[in-house]
Amino acid sequence: MSQICEIKCPHCGKWTLWKGEVDDRCLYCDGFLEPQRFSREIEKKIVAQIKKENDYFALKPTDGRIKREVKIFFNSFRWLVYYFQIAFFIFITTLLVILSFMAG
Ligand SMILES: [Zn+2]
Repeated sequence: MSQICEIKCPHCGKWTLWKGEVDDRCLYCDGFLEPQRFSREIEKKIVAQIKKENDYFALKPTDGRIKREVKIFFNSFRWLVYYFQIAFFIFITTLLVILSFMAG
């Protein structure tokens, strides 16, 4: 359902056509007629993308045995990388502390 109506542009104040779409732009200044709604849609898309990525490794009851094992493997691998990063950070921090003690 899209109906064309006239709307006053929030940027230049001229009357322009609005079709009710998220990405409708002003005919005169090319500004988005609903900038807040537009950014909200983008935000929604990003959130959906993150959710999809998380779902990718989530175990589903419909998954076969091999698929489950592959997913578990990748999940633990991701955690391994995560822990490795933390360990690396602690190692560097400790090294800096020791070095500053030695210098002082
Ligand atoms: Zn305008």
